[in-house]
Amino acid sequence: MLVAATNPCPCGYLGDPRKECHCGPTQIERYCGKISGPLLDRIDLQVEVPAVAYGELRREEPAESSASIRERVLRVREVQRKRFDGLPGVETNAQMDSAELRKFCRLDAESDKLLEHAMESLNLSARAHARILKVARTLADMDGRETLSSDDVMEAIQYRSLDRKLWS
Ligand SMILES: [Zn+2]
Repeated sequence: MLVAATNPCPCGYLGDPRKECHCGPTQIERYCGKISGPLLDRIDLQVEVPAVAYGELRREEPAESSASIRERVLRVREVQRKRFDGLPGVETNAQMDSAELRKFCRLDAESDKLLEHAMESLNLSARAHARILKVARTLADMDGRETLSSDDVMEAIQYRSLDRKLWS
């Protein structure tokens, strides 16, 4: 599994409400251009993480424990293991090939239209398209649903924030 983080611009304050960013558009473009499109394509979940305010850091309520998150992951992995039972080499949604995508990620007319629109307006690649379907499949699995909903597709598109923002 690959986990990576980057600043939004050379100074790091682009989009931060507490401090102004003084980077120019060309500078920002050059900075973001260091990560290639094909590399970004291969990252399933792209999420913007705003700076954490001091008050948040000091919050008393405990965050969800790793143990309970692990339980959730194992539960969804089990759903996937059952789905791909009998398919050698496939244990998770991420490992589906194009035939399996067609079989297990059927979209209704509304979701299909939504994805088509996103593909065109965000200029997404075929690889990004497959990633979105796989992530949507996992979101439905987390919810215990057999069928993908347009909300799953919408949420999966949201996780392409770098494609949407800097590279489109
Ligand atoms: Zn900046």
